Amino acid sequence: MRPEILFPLFAPVTSLKGIGQRFATLVERAAGPRLVDLLWAKPVGVIDRRFSPKLKDALPGQIATLTVRVDQHFVPTSSRQPYRVRCSDETGHITLTFFRARGDYIEKILPLGEVRVISGKVESYGDQLQMSHPDHIAAEGEVELTVEPIYPLTAGLSLKIMRRAVQAAVARAPVLPEWQDPAFVARRQWPPWLDALETLHNPTTPEDLEPDRPARQRLAYDELLADQLALALVRAHNKRQPGRVVAGNGELRRKIIAGLPFELTGSQRRALDEIDADMAAPERMLRLLQGDVGSGKTVVALLALANAIETGAQGALMAPTEILARQHFATLERLAAPAGIRIALLTGRDKGKPRERILAGLADGTIQLAIGTHALFQDEVRFADLAVAVIDEQHKFGVEQRVQLASKGRGVDVLVMTATPIPRSLQLTSYGDLDASRLTEKPAGRQPIKTSVLPIERLDGVADAVGRALDRGSKVYWVCPLIEENETIDLAAAEERHAHLSERFGARAGLLHGRMKPTERDRVMEEFAKGSVDLLIATTVIEVGVDVPSATVMVIEHAERFGLAQLHQLRGRIGRGTGASTCLLLYAPPLGETGTERLKIMRETEDGFVIAEADLRLRGAGEVLGTRQSGMPEFRLADLAFDQELLAIAHDEARLVLARDPDLATPRGQSLRTLLYLFERDAAVKYLRSG
Ligand code: ADP
Ligand code: MG
Repeated sequence: MRPEILFPLFAPVTSLKGIGQRFATLVERAAGPRLVDLLWAKPVGVIDRRFSPKLKDALPGQIATLTVRVDQHFVPTSSRQPYRVRCSDETGHITLTFFRARGDYIEKILPLGEVRVISGKVESYGDQLQMSHPDHIAAEGEVELTVEPIYPLTAGLSLKIMRRAVQAAVARAPVLPEWQDPAFVARRQWPPWLDALETLHNPTTPEDLEPDRPARQRLAYDELLADQLALALVRAHNKRQPGRVVAGNGELRRKIIAGLPFELTGSQRRALDEIDADMAAPERMLRLLQGDVGSGKTVVALLALANAIETGAQGALMAPTEILARQHFATLERLAAPAGIRIALLTGRDKGKPRERILAGLADGTIQLAIGTHALFQDEVRFADLAVAVIDEQHKFGVEQRVQLASKGRGVDVLVMTATPIPRSLQLTSYGDLDASRLTEKPAGRQPIKTSVLPIERLDGVADAVGRALDRGSKVYWVCPLIEENETIDLAAAEERHAHLSERFGARAGLLHGRMKPTERDRVMEEFAKGSVDLLIATTVIEVGVDVPSATVMVIEHAERFGLAQLHQLRGRIGRGTGASTCLLLYAPPLGETGTERLKIMRETEDGFVIAEADLRLRGAGEVLGTRQSGMPEFRLADLAFDQELLAIAHDEARLVLARDPDLATPRGQSLRTLLYLFERDAAVKYLRSG
């Protein structure tokens, strides 16, 4: 249960005084539905109102704070005209204009003959100075106008209302018990939590927005510690669960390996050794298998599964999407055939009799290996004896689900596979509860992908090149961009390109997008992999997992709109066979500095880790790519491009805390529980023995 002291912060935005229902809806849209969401709304800029010139020195285009006398009101004669108020100081005049304003209200805030302080953007109207709808109007000495925070807004929401909402939320924030080590806070000269929050939302200089300010550092560290503590709790919980000794006799493995048309790479063998050691140990395995696209994770996974199957137990492999599950099924069925492993596919699409047959097979153990989607989680899915679970592309699943799948057997060993090349520093956040094996070598025989960067004007030339590649028998991907998070627009772009390329390539051009029914999608993929479709125009649905080794060309339109990590994932769909591959990145000029740099990196390297580090660095340079896109963890206050040192400290601190106080029972432990609830890491709290 959430501690009572935090209740006010989780109240809805509508509970704020002075924010009516209409505005509350807008504030919710901009920041989130609860007060705590307002607290976490970091200012993204400031308006500096410290410039307060005499009128003769005021320049159009500037934000200025002016002290003026109200000289004359001009009441409009038609509703299309603005209400105008002429003001002056001893050096000049300015006209304030108000559209659709109530006259009595203007008269009240700008009484004739009085002196008022006004602040806003100075404009020119002919050779006259003008200011429309000043942001502030106050009597002298009533307010001190310095620097004001800017928040991300939404249509219809003014900064003024947003600021009022944030301030009201901050005012409701309670003093919370210190959860940090006081000595550490003192050494860093960090303020207490509430002070830090107030400072965050009341910058006095533009520099106060820098991430290295004590208040910002403090808040970022709080969030990181909550995250690391939660992960450490999950890890401790998992490690406490009894595991089992799983050590096969190697028989099935030998048969599978004998059937492979290639040798395992050194890193595949090393990863298997690590996995074997984990499975043979009486504790549960919780291991991350991280390897770039095409590095050969699937075979490693299958050999791990075979190890369990050799002991008479079962294995499961779970993929985030239907397409991927089917693909894994097809691959594994083929690879496992020499060993005679009985394997089944279970997805949400399986209904009726076939589904019952699969469920029965899993329950009585006749099915040794289950491949599936989320469907494997469902309650009706029972295993005779599940010993190992492999989870592909983990960032699409939560920590919770990992625990859920593992609970379907006795001491289930868990292997998580990911192709997201998360920099080592960030691995602490997404996978902080896992041990890691990395596949660093590419399988032998792979040729480097040649990547070129071209402006979109060269589209015709690109289509020619695609034509030549098709004539040589290549398969080609043509990726259309994610424009806004708007599927309809994306889809239209892909359809249009498909129509355009079909004119030239006829039925050899196919279309694949996320709005298609899964069956239809599979059919198109099938046609591309084996049939008559040679050019596949697709939205980013092909991002993960799709494996067509004969595809050797990829065109990516508007490459500048993709995140680096995403480009890397996409490009990983080619260069999987032994043929030389080419990637053409098309961009719409002009490219900014960061955009240029990003595409340059894509041209220069195929190393996912180098790309991930560059991604992080460039995002630090102000590019917001969206963490969801790149598979990076999301934080409200911490900025992982900047706060990596704090992350490492939080990681160590979390482990230290739990070593000393595993149940968070001490007074500081109690405060840390509050911290976990504050950042909504509630799930972790239930893993405390005395929740
Ligand atoms: P990942 O899942 O890591 O992206 P896959 O497991 O799909 O990569 O492997 C990509 C391709 O490489 C597959 O066609 C697979 O059969 C092949 N492959 C895997 N290991 C090796 C190896 N050691 N040598 C050559 N090819 C390999
Ligand atoms: Mg084990």
